[in-house]
Amino acid sequence: MHETAIAQSIVETVLKEAHSHNAAGVESIEIVIGDLTFLGIEQIEFWVNTNLEGTIAQGAKLIFKREKGELLCKNCGYSGELKIKEDPAYHFHLPFFACPECGSSDIEITKGKESIIKSIRLITDE
Ligand SMILES: [Zn+2]
Repeated sequence: MHETAIAQSIVETVLKEAHSHNAAGVESIEIVIGDLTFLGIEQIEFWVNTNLEGTIAQGAKLIFKREKGELLCKNCGYSGELKIKEDPAYHFHLPFFACPECGSSDIEITKGKESIIKSIRLITDE
């Protein structure tokens, strides 16, 4: 049910933004979802649309973009795309994070673990 919480916070942010600008409506919302959040875009889209019903932002176009995971290896200094290895032994496909260069797990995730609203296009009466 993680998606509902994300959707709720997206809706709150959008409505707050729309109200603070006295917008008549919301044309589009651009949302970036990091690959490492493992969130289902379809579910988020569904819940955002559901939560926007009856608000001034109803009917806003949702534009989703995925952001690939990136890491920084503290062992060898590698910086780049993160490959997710899925262990078939785990039912939940627990990802195993490691440096693709040296195999070290002493890494820092630098990209792809967030879901953010990139832009909100408001409709104003002018
Ligand atoms: Zn490394």
